[in-house]
Amino acid sequence: MGLGCLLTSGLIGLALAAPLFGAVAHAQGNGLVGARAAARDISAGVAVTGATVQRSGGTAKFLFDLNRIAQVEAYVLADPDRVVVELPETSFLIDPAIGRLAPAGRGEPAPLVSSFRFGQFAKGRSRIVFDLAEPARIVKATAEATESGGAAHLVIELAQTPADSFRAAARAARAAQFQKAPAREEAAAEAQPQTKPLIVIDAGHGGVDMGAVGAKSIYEKDIVLDVARRLAAKLAAGGKTRTLLTRTGDEFIPLGDRVKVARKAGAQLFVSIHADMLNETSVHGATVYTVSDRASDAEAARVAAKENDADKAGGMADSEEIGDVNDILFDLTRRETRAIGHQFAMSLIDFWKAAGDSNKNPVRSAGFVVLKAPDVPSVLLELGYLSNDRDLAKLNSEDWRQTAAERIAQAVERYFNRRSAASEPSAATAGLGAGLASAR
Ligand SMILES: [Zn+2]
Repeated sequence: MGLGCLLTSGLIGLALAAPLFGAVAHAQGNGLVGARAAARDISAGVAVTGATVQRSGGTAKFLFDLNRIAQVEAYVLADPDRVVVELPETSFLIDPAIGRLAPAGRGEPAPLVSSFRFGQFAKGRSRIVFDLAEPARIVKATAEATESGGAAHLVIELAQTPADSFRAAARAARAAQFQKAPAREEAAAEAQPQTKPLIVIDAGHGGVDMGAVGAKSIYEKDIVLDVARRLAAKLAAGGKTRTLLTRTGDEFIPLGDRVKVARKAGAQLFVSIHADMLNETSVHGATVYTVSDRASDAEAARVAAKENDADKAGGMADSEEIGDVNDILFDLTRRETRAIGHQFAMSLIDFWKAAGDSNKNPVRSAGFVVLKAPDVPSVLLELGYLSNDRDLAKLNSEDWRQTAAERIAQAVERYFNRRSAASEPSAATAGLGAGLASAR
């Protein structure tokens, strides 16, 4: 559904003061309520210590226990349909599994909210994202002081609304968010020009976007961050390469920003680390993906679609794509970059095959947004499947994660050894890349 048209009527921003602070205002209109609760003291950290969920017919109510009043903003987004609640940086001292809500029983109406998740979105900002099964309007989104001293409740109330009202609210919210969004470019600024090749290590997902969730609340975002850190440590110990991580903590980073980090830093290689999940429990082993316009097979297309949804899981309106420049130089560079990426993918999977840890069909390609830097060879490694018992046990083992990091490090070092032994100038990363300045 095209959402190109941005309404100028804008987001109805309404001050919804908590009762403690005076008048209470409610507004609905188009099913859109921008709600803000007055903040008395935003210097102390906010913590969520408990959560209660009430769902019935066409309504849903969520009550989060807060240690104090915090500023709250809520809005809806479409495709997929979500409610996003913005908070200052918040510690969630509750089990993330609470967000996996039970589906409707047989014959029961679908619940308004199918699931929700929470976590850091950016420095100083956290989010709660509700996935909607039906179009909903925000009846209430406010932090209210409880009677007993400093504690507060964050109250989110949603009600079913007609689809066209929901769409109108989502368009307005999207327009408002676009006006606010700052560009994130901090990480790359630290990179210094040096002679050792630079590898950007990208731990998938993070913060409010948890990625795949395995049994016993094992999260893809945690596993891949651990492997990324171990890989950086291993490469640093080897002393032959430099590394830069797209994220070093439990933080949400949009896909487009991950690509920008690699391009701005002039990386020679980009390695994105993930773990997959299927309904089918017997599929196992690692797979390396490269970028292509047409998916190598249906399975690769499925994985790319799922990974490309990461921005939506984080509550963003749209993924930012590197614009296709209709230019021969651009095209040549991209082709060369992709060929190099494929070479590295083949070399990387050799180490997994040798250990008997690879998938049956371990090298595939599809349109992954995070691999689309036209001048940085990029691969995405799915370490294994959280849905397979044997893989899950491995992914959950520190020893195995260390071994996994060492395999990737060996592949990276061998790859750069061979490239420098061939002593040809690195076309994709030096000469041709420079011609792309205008495309950046
Ligand atoms: Zn992933």
